[in-house]
Amino acid sequence: MDKEQRATTARLAITAILAGTAAACPMPAPAHILLYLAAYAVIGADIIYKALRNIPRGRIFDENFLMAAATCGAIALGEYPEAVAVMALYQLGEMLSDIAVGRSRASISALMEIRPDTAVIEVPRGSTRQMPPTDVPIGSMAIVSPGEKIPLDGTIISGTTDIDASALTGESQPYAAAPGDKVLGGCINLTGAIRIKTTAQYADTTAAKILEMVENAETGKAHTEKAVTRLARRYTPIVVAAAVLLAVLPPLAGAGSWEQWLHRALVFLVISCPCALVISVPLAFFAGIGGAARKGILFKGSTHIETMAKARAVAFDKTGTLTYGRFSVTAIHPETVSEEQLLELAALAESRSVHPVALSLRAAYSGTQGQDAVSDLHEHPGEGIEATIGGKHIYAGNERLMARAGVVPRQCSCTGTIIHISVDGTYMGHIAVADTPKPQSAQAIGRLREKGIHTVMLTGDKDSVAAAVAAATGIKEYHAGLMPDQKARFVAALAQQPATTPVAFVGDGINDAPVLKTADAGIAMGAAGSAAAIAAADIVLLNDDPLQVDTAIDTARKTMRIVRQNIILALAVKSALLAAGACGIAGMWAAVFADVGVTLAAVLNSLRAMRTAC
Ligand code: ADP
Ligand code: MG
Repeated sequence: MDKEQRATTARLAITAILAGTAAACPMPAPAHILLYLAAYAVIGADIIYKALRNIPRGRIFDENFLMAAATCGAIALGEYPEAVAVMALYQLGEMLSDIAVGRSRASISALMEIRPDTAVIEVPRGSTRQMPPTDVPIGSMAIVSPGEKIPLDGTIISGTTDIDASALTGESQPYAAAPGDKVLGGCINLTGAIRIKTTAQYADTTAAKILEMVENAETGKAHTEKAVTRLARRYTPIVVAAAVLLAVLPPLAGAGSWEQWLHRALVFLVISCPCALVISVPLAFFAGIGGAARKGILFKGSTHIETMAKARAVAFDKTGTLTYGRFSVTAIHPETVSEEQLLELAALAESRSVHPVALSLRAAYSGTQGQDAVSDLHEHPGEGIEATIGGKHIYAGNERLMARAGVVPRQCSCTGTIIHISVDGTYMGHIAVADTPKPQSAQAIGRLREKGIHTVMLTGDKDSVAAAVAAATGIKEYHAGLMPDQKARFVAALAQQPATTPVAFVGDGINDAPVLKTADAGIAMGAAGSAAAIAAADIVLLNDDPLQVDTAIDTARKTMRIVRQNIILALAVKSALLAAGACGIAGMWAAVFADVGVTLAAVLNSLRAMRTAC
């Protein structure tokens, strides 16, 4: 409980004593009224103040106004106990939902405890200094003791350890790390002392990007969320107008006393308070986003929850998404040079690329790379690399790139992705690299199919490789040889057809940015470590598991179910009570109990969204 909540509790207690005394002790009428008015002032003064304060600001018809109008009306009618009770119950309900919201926020931010507090940095003369991670320049040496949080993204220079990345990726198993391995800020260093060389400033670390994303998640509001706010804004004036009519018309028509109808109109006002929706719908989205974040699924806003809940098609990129994206060289077929020379050419050309193919070629080449000789590097997305090395013009990539280079590549019967290499217009040979499908891919495709969601694989790789991966993962439809813009057009076409819209695209974020943007929901996979993918996508899956796509859909559907339940519950109870109130069946007490009850039920229901379906 915070200070404000404690103060409300104290005021509720005082009100209870004052009103209780008034109700229980026999006393002259004026003393009686004074006690009730004092009780009312203690519990209701701030609501009246807020209602009055909001009028010049143009926010006339908010819940404060409804409560103030209803209770002041009750006092005018001489129904003092009702006025006090309505205010007290309203305040109690507000406080309880405040506590619930506060709890959920606290538990989400606790789970997002990835913000490093301090970094221990080596300074000259062999000593160390503690400083805030935000002040640490790139390339600093940081010492991380066992049990400490890694302050910034970096590479291990010395020491071996186990690393717990669960707060970042949702992966519960720690993994072993040794010199040369990359580590992410925000992970916990479990067992050994390590020295790391930082590779990013704080603002560019994965942890900072994730926090930024979670903190901004509220700006990408879902249609439902916006609709509720709009509804509340329009609906309250309508309700007030209806209440005025209810108070005036029947007595004018001679259907009862003014007092009787004024009382009914006030009850009507209390019932119509839209708090249940205004509080619970945003909370459900917030809880859904928070629950998903715990599992390493980051929704950039509630609008993406809405889209994912309705997704009818999911298009997958192949490399790095359905497959590991860790290629290994399986064959080297040079024309005139030696195998080692061909590999050197390829490794040099790929020296700056982050494409999985490039990483594998560099890893296979054991010689030292004279990077200084490389100039004019250009990556053709979906094709390969064009580079000038030591004055020679080199192309390394697929058949499309060879067409661009104007050379005719030799056909190869090897399985796997073939990287052809040409130098100054002469074909030099090719290198075959192969990748393996992730074991979870087939399961993920199977689960999506069970949900009736259409799945398709889009790849820039050649047909034979695509066919093998499609067979291994059980994906029925695939399209090979696509350039990134063709993938985008394909996804746009899916988004046009009623049977496959909305469409989600899942990619690894390397050269997929246009497709991620085109899809109704762009999902970047395995993005822990890639700030660029976090920027391009709507949804980020922090670990490499394709099953997360299915979990994201389950979470989104569950959240939307809760939102719908809350809307139906609130509208049903409210409309039944409105009718009852208008007919004079439900009194002020019933009205306020129903309002507080529905709000609390909806808030508690919303919190369920934090527990993701899995
Ligand atoms: P995917 O759709 O499977 O993710 P990409 O669109 O990234 O594949 O690339 C398609 C094809 O383009 C690759 O299979 C490869 O033949 C070629 N390619 C792309 N980038 C490179 C590179 N850096 N080096 C060599 N070949 C590349
Ligand atoms: Mg790719």
